[in-house]
Amino acid sequence: MKILVINCGSSSLKYQLIDMETEEVIAKGLCERIGIDGHLVHKPEGKPVLDKNIDMPDHTVAVSLVLNALTDPVSGVISSLSEISAVGHRIVHGGEKFADAVVLNDEVIAEIEKCNDLAPLHNPANIIGIRSCQKLMPNAPMVGVFDTAFHQTMPEKAYLYALPYEYYEKYKVRRYGFHGTSHSFVSKRAAEFLNIPLKDSKIIVCHLGNGSSICAVDGGKSIDTSMGLTPLEGVAMGTRSGAIDPAIIEFIAEHEHMDLPQVMNVLNKKSGVYGVSGVSSDFRDLAAAAEAGDHRAQIALDVFEYQVAKYIGSYAVALGRVDAIVFTAGIGENNISAREHICSYLSVLGVKLDAQKNNVRGQETILSADDSKVKVLLIPTNEELAIARQTKELVQR
Ligand code: AMP
Repeated sequence: MKILVINCGSSSLKYQLIDMETEEVIAKGLCERIGIDGHLVHKPEGKPVLDKNIDMPDHTVAVSLVLNALTDPVSGVISSLSEISAVGHRIVHGGEKFADAVVLNDEVIAEIEKCNDLAPLHNPANIIGIRSCQKLMPNAPMVGVFDTAFHQTMPEKAYLYALPYEYYEKYKVRRYGFHGTSHSFVSKRAAEFLNIPLKDSKIIVCHLGNGSSICAVDGGKSIDTSMGLTPLEGVAMGTRSGAIDPAIIEFIAEHEHMDLPQVMNVLNKKSGVYGVSGVSSDFRDLAAAAEAGDHRAQIALDVFEYQVAKYIGSYAVALGRVDAIVFTAGIGENNISAREHICSYLSVLGVKLDAQKNNVRGQETILSADDSKVKVLLIPTNEELAIARQTKELVQR
């Protein structure tokens, strides 16, 4: 069985074709600048990479170019589209409606559209991707996998904001959380790796990448997470501010003569470690600048690491016991010094990192010393495989 995983952004489309017998990627790629000009990078397993500028006026054209690349005699990996058994779509926001992946039909898509308000940049693009695939592959079943679904198990005390309750009732203003597919995949894998039953496990997952979120997972269920109504809350990120005093918004608007959308743009695109450092949103650039003596780059790293450590501390309280702290995503998997600094704040929990074991990138392993009270793990995330697995499970039912 082969499953195509699609992750549609407003002007981009990432895809992977996965052979579910081996769980190996047969081809993957990226369409960029959709609706602007168009650029396709297609990487078929064992064949030369296809990298070309090509007109992509809309997502349907982008999907058709991907399907052509997958079936092309030179760059292709399958002989016909009928070899694709199902398509799994990443969908950012499922609101309170979706606590699990779901087979997509017109009724479900209408429900997803109702969540557009909550993720205006992402959900409409996800839906365009679904419609385009339906048009070009009318016989393939489609499944939607939501970033928010895993967090639907959070208790009210974790998801409610202390705002007038009517905003929750009228507009569903609450914490939703994101990166759910990753938090679920990584926490399950961590329990397997440690050979402890998932239902008894208490795990804190640190998904640290361009966007970062921390999640407290109790018995395989999310009980709290750092992102909120939108992916802006939580720790400082590449360009996102993370949690700040809400009064800052009015203050900046007044002093910088900005309207609300302008201030929100600053919080989303010009803040985080980029805003503090003035150097870059990329942690590799920050490390290099800090090494060369750039104080603001160093402070940006310090702010990020300190905030991650504080979330871990608060989730230790929420869980009451911690079996494992797991690092994943670009920074979590690769940034040795960030992991070291974050863990250096956690001695109160009995966390002891082993410097030698921590000297590793991108591979599943234990990072903590043998006498650490809490295991610290590196588990690479694989959101596409998690989406493909859920898609397979649903279409086989
Ligand atoms: P992601 O959004 O998961 O792709 O993560 C992107 C972040 O991971 C960027 O800030 C990168 O600097 C960081 N990252 C990726 N690879 C490395 C690496 N080898 N060393 C340090 N940071 C890395």
